Amino acid sequence: MTVCNIIDNKALPPAGKATYRAINPSDTADVIADYALSSIDDVNKAVAAANRAAPGWAHETPIARGEILRKAAGLLRERVEAIAQQASREVGKPIEEARGEALYSARVWEFYAGEGTRLTGDNLPSGRPGVVAYTLRKPLGAVGQITPWNFPMSIPAWKIGPALITGNTIVWKPCLQAPYTSIAMAQTLVDAGLPAGVLNLLHGDGFDIGQAIVDHPGLAGISFTGSQKVGFAVHQAASARRAKVQCELGGKNPLIVLDDADLDLAVLTAIEGAFRNAGQKCTATSRVIVQKGIKEAFTKAFVEKARALAVGDARDAKTFVGPVVDARQYEKIRSYIKSGAEEGAELLLGGDSGQNRAGYFIEPTIFDHVKPEAKIAREEIFGPVVALFTVADLDEAITLANDTEHGLSSSICTTSLASAHQFLNRAQAGVTSVNLPTAGVELQAPFGGSKASGLGVKEQGRPVIDFYTELRTAYLKVA
Ligand code: NAD
Repeated sequence: MTVCNIIDNKALPPAGKATYRAINPSDTADVIADYALSSIDDVNKAVAAANRAAPGWAHETPIARGEILRKAAGLLRERVEAIAQQASREVGKPIEEARGEALYSARVWEFYAGEGTRLTGDNLPSGRPGVVAYTLRKPLGAVGQITPWNFPMSIPAWKIGPALITGNTIVWKPCLQAPYTSIAMAQTLVDAGLPAGVLNLLHGDGFDIGQAIVDHPGLAGISFTGSQKVGFAVHQAASARRAKVQCELGGKNPLIVLDDADLDLAVLTAIEGAFRNAGQKCTATSRVIVQKGIKEAFTKAFVEKARALAVGDARDAKTFVGPVVDARQYEKIRSYIKSGAEEGAELLLGGDSGQNRAGYFIEPTIFDHVKPEAKIAREEIFGPVVALFTVADLDEAITLANDTEHGLSSSICTTSLASAHQFLNRAQAGVTSVNLPTAGVELQAPFGGSKASGLGVKEQGRPVIDFYTELRTAYLKVA
């Protein structure tokens, strides 16, 4: 099967000159696809298809739209194993995590299918006799969606689901690294009966095809997930042409461990948060801020547990830490590890790549005595690298946790209700958790960053309906 765009429910070869080679990061000799990328003409065709389909799709009842989404969720459940295997090969996600992500995506579509029966407006009192006033929601029309590689199934699912149920049509540009996973997600919706033109998939690089989507006057909204640098530019460009825009961006997520924490739970919480998906989660724990009384015991146990994690091929069921996604990411993480040592931090574990392995492997890496101004303390690394800090008390811990431009997720391990409550009140993050890892979200709850980690309406749960609809007010003189 060749890598094709999907426009008007038809598989069409991308017509651009540029090509991309997708490689299995667990085994770089395994070439997944050498494929052509889209042209600007392809973007125009996809936007035209989405706009042609928009009135018909908006006219369908939300319940009918929900039926298609529910059917797609059922098909996705049937295809979980095949899609998870593909994603694991394409982005190096350990297979159990990939299965979990595929299943989560089906649940996301089921949740938004149900929203079809729950979309509401308000009945309002009118001061004018005989007048009925109410609010109603209208879809934006055709929208653009741009997604990253680290969750190639669930991030598209949680953008596509709410856009479709509210009656929008879509031009979706996924990451380059997972072409077949992206096609499989879109095909599931096509097979479920989605009308032609409602979801259009374009393969392409960000700087030209992504940018053309952001700039396209035929797209009334842009939903973007990715890095901060790109996200800020996307926000600016889309806002400049008055498109509605939402950006979910990176993090530098702290986990605080207080003296009164349950030690085993704290270690597990740090391991799960820092090393799942090789640390390539926007919510991954990258700073662990430990109170001085528990620091020695925590550090010893954390390093021992991290050392024992199985690093290997993503499709091996025993693997906990798979490879990082590609050569660029591999080199970037290694340069951060180098800078950690150069800026005076003490390397307790890892630090070296798996040079004898077949793919882009980086061992779990832990630095201690990290200066708050060091690069590894401030910049998103997006790899299995943790910086440890020592603090005297809760106040210092929260101050250090908040000392970042990022604000995605923040956690604390403590057995004190008062400390937990103080943390929840003061932590500057879109997601805050007690005795739970920084990574880990639930589809019915809003998700997104504060500060520089997110711009616009949050995703997941019900609030995202606000992004995909325009609220209108109607007055009706009935008597
Ligand atoms: P990235 O910003 O490089 O790319 C994200 C997407 O944007 C890709 O599809 C890419 O092709 C596209 N893109 C690149 N340049 C573009 C441009 N000029 N205009 C339009 N589109 C463009 O990010 P990435 O490396 O794919 O993903 C990792 C980043 O995503 C990390 O920073 C991570 O924290 C973030 N992320 C955030 C969330 C969240 O919900 N907050 C979730 C997952 C990942």
